[in-house]
Amino acid sequence: MATKDDAKKKLVEVYEKMSVIVKKNLDKAEVVTEEALEKAIKESKAWAAKQKVKYGPEVQKAADALRRDFQSRLTKATEETKKGLNLERLGAGILSLTQRVAKTVGVGLDHFADKLNDKITCHTGEVTGAGTLTCAKCGAKVKLTKASLIPECPKCGHNTFRRGY
Ligand SMILES: [Zn+2]
Repeated sequence: MATKDDAKKKLVEVYEKMSVIVKKNLDKAEVVTEEALEKAIKESKAWAAKQKVKYGPEVQKAADALRRDFQSRLTKATEETKKGLNLERLGAGILSLTQRVAKTVGVGLDHFADKLNDKITCHTGEVTGAGTLTCAKCGAKVKLTKASLIPECPKCGHNTFRRGY
């Protein structure tokens, strides 16, 4: 019988593995869009379904968390692309737009962890990747160094956070 802790461990594990597949697929995508992200998530779910380990409902939970987390990266990538456009207008841009977006998303996981994007909210008990969470109530920061289940706020016990990138 699987315990609650096993399910939690499985969720973090499948999230981490699926995020690698999503990242790989986004790197291959010509243009990184919402559609490309959906396709990449679909691929990661297909991958999970083929594994010997039966992940069950964790796959959908991980897919939802990945969509939320990668969407904030897409927002960031779009901002970078806009900056790229400005550079190109000045004649300094060499990289194509596609390369820029793909590059930004590709490195997003590790390097944009602390750049703030206040639009994304997440909740205690959900899985998420490395980064900094800010309590929506008291502003306390929770730093996650790897994919983890989101804890309660250590200061006030609240369950809603903003996700920083
Ligand atoms: Zn708090």
